[in-house]
Amino acid sequence: MIATLSVMPAGTNVNVTAGSPWVGSDAASASPRSDRPAWHDDARCRTAPPNLNWFAETPTGVEAARRVCATCPVRQDCTEWSLVQGASLKGVWGGLTPRDRQQMRVARRKAA
Ligand code: SF4
Repeated sequence: MIATLSVMPAGTNVNVTAGSPWVGSDAASASPRSDRPAWHDDARCRTAPPNLNWFAETPTGVEAARRVCATCPVRQDCTEWSLVQGASLKGVWGGLTPRDRQQMRVARRKAA
């Protein structure tokens, strides 16, 4: 399954497939993609089951993705990265849904 998402700044589209938010990817490869942050080398989603849907819209699907993120050593990097991508970023990143990210952006703006 291939999905196209806007995941990079300036609206750059990156092709991804189920299996990792960054896939399309070289999840099983030692060579990093040039458009993938270095911290993603240690990401738990690189070794997650390939049938895990990072863009699920059901509570069960979202929870499955969140469970992987909960054990990820680069979760904080991923969260911060996802927050600056804007509202068009879909899927679970850093254990957060698009709605979670929007709520976090609003809370941070209020706290600033
Ligand atoms: S926090 Fe989740 S989406 Fe982000 S790198 Fe880790 S496993 Fe992947």
